[in-house]
Amino acid sequence: MNFPRMVVLIALACGTALAQPQPAPLTVTPLRDGVYLVKGGSGANTGFVVGEKEVVVIDAKMTEASAREMLAEIRKVTPNPVRTLLLTHSDGDHVNGLPGFPQGLRILAHANTRKDMEAAIQTQNQGALAPYLPNETLTQSRTLSIGGVPMELLYFGPAHTSGNLIVLLPRKKIAFVGDLLLVGRDPLIHRQKGGSSAGLVNVLRRMLALDADTFVSGHADPLAKSDIQALLSSVEAKQAKVKALIGQGQTLEQIKSAMGETAAAGGRFPTLVDVIYQELTAKP
Ligand SMILES: [Zn+2]
Repeated sequence: MNFPRMVVLIALACGTALAQPQPAPLTVTPLRDGVYLVKGGSGANTGFVVGEKEVVVIDAKMTEASAREMLAEIRKVTPNPVRTLLLTHSDGDHVNGLPGFPQGLRILAHANTRKDMEAAIQTQNQGALAPYLPNETLTQSRTLSIGGVPMELLYFGPAHTSGNLIVLLPRKKIAFVGDLLLVGRDPLIHRQKGGSSAGLVNVLRRMLALDADTFVSGHADPLAKSDIQALLSSVEAKQAKVKALIGQGQTLEQIKSAMGETAAAGGRFPTLVDVIYQELTAKP
């Protein structure tokens, strides 16, 4: 997801001449020994983990400039080189900064994230990503150790997209979850990338069962299990309500209005109610 671009698009749609906002300065926050959160710059929050002889970066920012700035911040923390990138999913605000990294890194992601990136290269003018396609893909969870740091790359099925990985650091009890957790808005489900609101409920339940206490979102301050529980309850309540209203024969427009959604809700993205409705009324 990309909030600044959304602001610009809304401004353009409204015919106003707002200048593109400058990205906020990058900030690096230590979360727990050797684990850092990077906020600001262009694109989603990222993170990095300092291992014995190398650094692992989680997500790549949205522009080359912000990626380079992140690399400069990492050098202030450790002389260890970045050798591995883990991608939580394929959205541009998480991967379009890849060309700011040196080529030849180990890049791990879900196979569907690689597919989405290949599509972006073809259809969205993102040819600069070609040398940075994930060179190690997975379709199910994997346990590994990088730079002496145990990690679990967890795949719990489609949710925000069909390729979202969670990076769990079991010894630190921290999980980087990308856009599986957003705050202050309904969850965003990219159906065109195989996302699913029913899948999100399953993923949130699996997340609640993890032995972790800090959940790093692409677009919020670190969250706790109580935040996940609140989100799960709200998605389940919306699913139940949409289902009941469909059962009463209401149209999507009637349902959205009954649930307080304006025509502009969601901006350029379908709303959660749109997505739930599509899922519940899809022909098998
Ligand atoms: Zn996203």
